[in-house]
Amino acid sequence: MIQPIIAANWKMHKTIPEAVAFAKQLKKEFPEPGRVDIVIAPPFTALRSVMEVLKDSLIHISAQNMHWEEKGAYTGEISAAMLVDAGCKFVIIGHSERRALFGETGGMLNKKMHAALKSGLKPIFCIGETLEERESGATFEIIQKQIKEGLNNITPNDIRQVAFAYEPVWAIGTGKTATPLQAQEVHGFIRKTIAVDLEYAHASDTVIIYGGSVNPESTGSLVDQPDINGALVGGAGLDFDSFADIIRIAGR
Ligand code: PEP
Repeated sequence: MIQPIIAANWKMHKTIPEAVAFAKQLKKEFPEPGRVDIVIAPPFTALRSVMEVLKDSLIHISAQNMHWEEKGAYTGEISAAMLVDAGCKFVIIGHSERRALFGETGGMLNKKMHAALKSGLKPIFCIGETLEERESGATFEIIQKQIKEGLNNITPNDIRQVAFAYEPVWAIGTGKTATPLQAQEVHGFIRKTIAVDLEYAHASDTVIIYGGSVNPESTGSLVDQPDINGALVGGAGLDFDSFADIIRIAGR
């Protein structure tokens, strides 16, 4: 039985007081173990303060990015061990904004995956096609390539720790959600790719979440799909009421 994940990616939003207030409200609203794992990904500056609030709760903290090296002269970068130190259990790797705006390649993401897993972090590995790729019929080819590059030489034991996030680039921050059937088609393909290309025998247990303009209205029909195991939420995850509604709907 898969335990779904509902994760909020706050991107470059929220001051420390704002992040702490949100975390306190979340902890109060969801004090008991539920049918979904709740994850929030604050900016680096707020990780430690949010950890202080959530350390005795069931809500997990994720980073939004990391560097693959353990330490050294990498000005502005943060290592996996530093994230563990700050209280993170998860790290988002390969978000399309990192790929498109910061030039992160499949090879770089693969190094991040190895480093995260070595440090005991659970990667939320993002994959997804652009609108041009979808319209030219290349969606499956792109998804397969991203999975094979990102997960290159990752052992089955480590694949167990990975959650995949299908985030069609054309649906992120655009208000355009993939239809449940469009998303399910790709999620099914991702599960098959994990089983066949990565030769992972337990792909049926892998968590594959959907991201792209998810809101309380779209959540139910998305998570009702057999291969959609939760959501990675951007915009709607910044607003407490919307995020709490998404958690409740996904966990019903
Ligand atoms: C995201 O950036 O991961 C995301 C899914 O954003 P939004 O929900 O705003 O589309």
